[in-house]
This record gives sequence, structure tokens and C-alpha cells, in this order.
Amino acid sequence: MKHVYLDHAATSPVHPEVIEKMVVAMEEAYGNPSSSHSFGRQSHSYLNQSREILAHSIGASPHEIIMTSCGTESDNMAVLGTAQQRKDLGKHIISSQVEHPAVIKALHILENQGYEVTYLAVDAKGRISVEDFKSSLRDDTILVTIMYGNNEVGTTMPIREIGQYLKENKHQAYFHTDAVQAYGLVALDVKELGVDMLSVSSHKLNGPKGIGFLYLSDAVELPSLIVGGGQESGRRAGTENIPGMAGFAHAVRLTKEDQEEKRQAALDDGDYLMSGLDRIGVDYSINGEREHTIGHVLNLHLHGVDASQFIIQLDLKGIAVSAGSACSAGTVDPSPVLVAMYGADHPAITESIRFSFGLGTTQEDLDYTIQSIEKILKK
Ligand code: PLP
Repeated sequence: MKHVYLDHAATSPVHPEVIEKMVVAMEEAYGNPSSSHSFGRQSHSYLNQSREILAHSIGASPHEIIMTSCGTESDNMAVLGTAQQRKDLGKHIISSQVEHPAVIKALHILENQGYEVTYLAVDAKGRISVEDFKSSLRDDTILVTIMYGNNEVGTTMPIREIGQYLKENKHQAYFHTDAVQAYGLVALDVKELGVDMLSVSSHKLNGPKGIGFLYLSDAVELPSLIVGGGQESGRRAGTENIPGMAGFAHAVRLTKEDQEEKRQAALDDGDYLMSGLDRIGVDYSINGEREHTIGHVLNLHLHGVDASQFIIQLDLKGIAVSAGSACSAGTVDPSPVLVAMYGADHPAITESIRFSFGLGTTQEDLDYTIQSIEKILKK
């Protein structure tokens, strides 16, 4: 049976060159980077090189990059760490209704501890309004955490405008953005965006799983959530994942070589799929938009089609797609993102499918997908 992977927003295949780099790193750099002998120094030099590539990719300095185990840890550290650090300055936080659970659930913990969170609403395309943000900002706001691009519908948020506003007004709030989905497809510069913290995860851009980073600007001081040794300048204890870092850094290097072309290819894949659906007469609408979008996510409301059944049918044909975010797949809860966009009773809640494109997606894959959709719908 043919296998077609159209779920790159859930996770992505590891690039073959990344695998090679990781194997070499495992062979060459098994010393503990904290050891002062030659084996340790060899690992330490791997660590420095990787950190430099990662920092450079977002216009940051190497000491502003804290390695973590994943995007979830980066988000948790930004949200929980800020609250712990700044509790004397205020207890108000601004976020949005469509953040990833890695942010939302951390915010729920804080609400239970007496923090107050304003969740900005989104419009029918999944975008918050800058005006809403401005009117929610208070003197006691200590953190603004808004994702760069949404994992379910791909919509991007007005991050630059928010960053500029906070900086122009010299507001005390730290500004964090979860760029886990966007980082592989969109060129991001932390200074230009005006963000103090930014979360990234390697497995979304053809790097290995088990590694991510949190950018922490010089202006931000956070306590470590994981305590022990003095790694990451005392900000995240634990022996470093050298092969992971080497692989991650190489994935970033490859991404940066032709990032705009990759994004365009993903957009073209989405357009191609939609033109095929038009040709076979499928009645659908786009959840999100094609203007403010990361590029690789195409979430479609297939009118009158039960998405959970449809995904099983596609799987039987070897095609992998998703109903919402991977983290909420397998649960019967409606997608909070679609609910925020349309309200709880809208048919899109149960009739939507997320396609996402990336490394290895071919026109043949898309043709096979279109033919399979036609067969399934005819049945
Ligand atoms: N934030 C967003 C927007 C995501 O899409 C994801 C993963 O799907 C995460 C955070 C969590 O990243 P990780 O899987 O590396 O923990």
C-alpha cells in the first residue's frame, strides 16, 4: 500500500543529513561537556557550535539560548518561570484562546494560584486583534504570551505589532511567543519582533525529537524549573543532549538555506490539493486563511463529512492527516481552536481535517490523496 504523510505539523521526518550528523556526534562527542578533560572539551565545542547556529537563526546571542527537551518545556519555562519571578510586580497575564496546551495548561496552573489571565478572543480566521490586546493591557500585566502561528489552522498573529507597542510604551510585561510551528517556515528575528522569549522545537523542522530551545533575552531572568547541575548557565540543569543539539543545528542550517522556497512549496501543495478537490466537486471551506498563514497547514471544513470517520478511511488508504492538533487527537473533545473561531455548535467542529505538508511531499502523493478522497466520498 502507498504511504502518504500529510501530518508535518504533528511532527516531521528527520532529514537524512541530520541523521548522519547525529551519528557522528554520538561517536565523536560522548564525553560530558561539563568534564574538563579532552573528551569533555570535544563535546563542549559541539555544544558551542550548535548553540551559535541556533542563536544566529533568530538574531540572538548564544548566551540567550536555553536548550530544553521540547517546545512544551520551553513554553512551560516561559510561562511558569515568569510568574514565579515576577509575582511582586503583578498577577495579570494576557494570552489567547487558541494557544497550544503547553501554554494553556501552564496558565491554568497559574490561575489556580491566584493569577488572572485574559484570553484574547479570535475572529473567524483565528486571529486576535491588536486593539483588543491594547485594551487588555494593564499596569499589573507581567506577561503577554501569544503564539506566532497556530498549529491547527496555521493563522499567524500580529506579533510584531504587539512587540512594538510593548517596547514603545516601555511596559514591564515580558513578551513570549510560541514559535514552534512557525520557526521552520518563517524567518524570525527576535529584535525586529520585539519579543523577550521565544519557544522552538526541533522535531517540527526535520530535526530529532527530544530537543528544543527557549530564547531568553538578556533583559529576562527566569528561575530554572529543573534544578541540579549548573548547565545552561544555571538556568536548566541536566547533562546536555549533544547529538540532539548537533542534529537540531544541522536541521536549522538546512532550513535556512531555502526557507522561503520551502514555505512556497508548502503553500503550492495546499493550492494543488484544493484545485484537485474543486475538480472532483468537493464542497469545502478553509479554516483559517491563506494571507496570514505560516504556510504548511491547510485546515479544511469538508461540508457534511464526519471528520473522525473520514480520517480512518484515509488511514486505511495509507494517508496520514489529522483532525486537530496531535495532542488532542484520540480525545473526543472538540478543538478549542475551532470553537474559539466559530462557536461550539458550528458544523466545522466535527467536519474539519488538517493537512500539513513538508519534506518529501510530492505531487504524486497529492494526486493519490485527491483520488482517494473522491473514492471515499463516492462510497
Ligand atoms: N506549541 C505548538 C504551537 C505546537 O504545535 C507544539 C507541538 O505540536 C508544541 C508547542 C509542543 O512542542 P513539543 O511537541 O516539542 O513539545
